[in-house]
Amino acid sequence: NVAINNKYYPNSQQAVLAQLDFTVKPGEFVAIIGPSGCGKSTLLNMISGLEDCSGQHISYNERASQKYGANDSGVNNQSHQLGYIFQQPRLMPWLTVKENIELVLSPSQYHKIDGLLAQVGLDNKGGYFPSQLSGGMQRRVSIARAFAINPQLLLLDEPFNSLDAPTAARLRQLLLDLCIQRGTTVVFVTHDLSEAIYLADRIIFMSHSPSTIVHQAIVDLPKPRKESGVAELKWQA
Ligand code: ATP
Ligand code: MG
Repeated sequence: NVAINNKYYPNSQQAVLAQLDFTVKPGEFVAIIGPSGCGKSTLLNMISGLEDCSGQHISYNERASQKYGANDSGVNNQSHQLGYIFQQPRLMPWLTVKENIELVLSPSQYHKIDGLLAQVGLDNKGGYFPSQLSGGMQRRVSIARAFAINPQLLLLDEPFNSLDAPTAARLRQLLLDLCIQRGTTVVFVTHDLSEAIYLADRIIFMSHSPSTIVHQAIVDLPKPRKESGVAELKWQA
């Protein structure tokens, strides 16, 4: 549950977020659309706890965490609470691709890394440094890093920007597979309405800053369509 009432940045006269009040249900996929600068990244930073939330109300449903309790055989018991794919990839430049992903894992999970890199089309790039990769490749490393921890709640900030269409389609499918199989709860920021309609259960439209919610739309598409969708698109490296 998120209830924000006038979020200011320090030394700023004007609130960035005026009033936002919404609840994301466990397993729900919510897309957020709004003009540039309206505070979408600020909102994700607040949900993740990276940005100051004092005076605001952001809470997590107890049942959401119980859903992934130790008795749930279908889910990795070591799953972490939160995955965040930032608007900028934020890789550690002095670490290789593989080491960047190792950062979020325990040593017993390192064997997963090659498979994850293959899923995002980066086989054989594990030993590269971020500076040796294109922007889109760095973004894909950050996606693999977020997927690596099997998050219960996944925050994505325009994750498919700057990716070519086949790569973006493949990663959209990977994201859907992840959510459908694991019941991951997703808050997804995009500028692309068709992408939001394709992926999300619900779309929240934000106004210009200081932002409010101007509209919410339920996307009434049956899940099977989502599961097939662009899956047939062949991978093109
Ligand atoms: P975009 O679609 O371009 O990514 P956004 O909706 O994600 O935009 P934010 O990055 O959240 O927008 O920024 C919203 C507003 O808050 C902007 O006016 C920005 O200048 C301001 N802002 C963002 N981060 C900070 C900060 N750390 N300190 C002060 N102001 C900030
Ligand atoms: Mg942003």
